[in-house]
Amino acid sequence: VSNWIDVTLPVRNGMVHWPGDPEYKIRQVLDQRNGDICTLSHIDLSAHTGTHMDAPRHFLQGAATMEQMPIDATIGPARVIWISDPLAICRPELEQYDLQPGERILIKTQNSAKRWNSDDFDEDYIFIAADAAAYIAERRIRTIGVDALSVGGFKQDMVETHQTILGADIWIIEGLNLSAVEPGDYELVCLPLKLVGSDGSPARAVLRKI
Ligand SMILES: [Zn+2]
Repeated sequence: VSNWIDVTLPVRNGMVHWPGDPEYKIRQVLDQRNGDICTLSHIDLSAHTGTHMDAPRHFLQGAATMEQMPIDATIGPARVIWISDPLAICRPELEQYDLQPGERILIKTQNSAKRWNSDDFDEDYIFIAADAAAYIAERRIRTIGVDALSVGGFKQDMVETHQTILGADIWIIEGLNLSAVEPGDYELVCLPLKLVGSDGSPARAVLRKI
């Protein structure tokens, strides 16, 4: 029995996507049902589809791109923490967890239970407020993961939160479904594609209790 918990969003036609970003689309360009020798799909997608990573280049010109990510940024121990605030991840609540340099931190919020049941984009997801982003950057953690399609808010703190975190050399995982994960210590494996020059990449992410 596998004790890995898959925290990845299924990638499929019609799935939720960021407003204005290209929709995910898969179609068969060869299909055995039509007599072709094999079935072969073409996919169209944004680099920020579903569960995915942000490279520093996403909000910082000239900064690192996906293929430059140190592989241990997303493989190794990770701590899942619970933030109860229904609006935003704010500094005072986050400070209670005393983040340590080098940690991989995944933040579970009410997003995990609510947001992934719908294919419609909800502007009012829980995001990392700018003051909490500053705390994350000060603590020099290694990697931050969230259960929303963006670390920043739709209506506020979009640019500032991204720039603060990415500017501190912290790698970002977005779009995690942590609904089946209790807060605690885990082993994380999250592998984005080695997309040269890309500001992001879809990723597969799994957790195992330690
Ligand atoms: Zn992104």
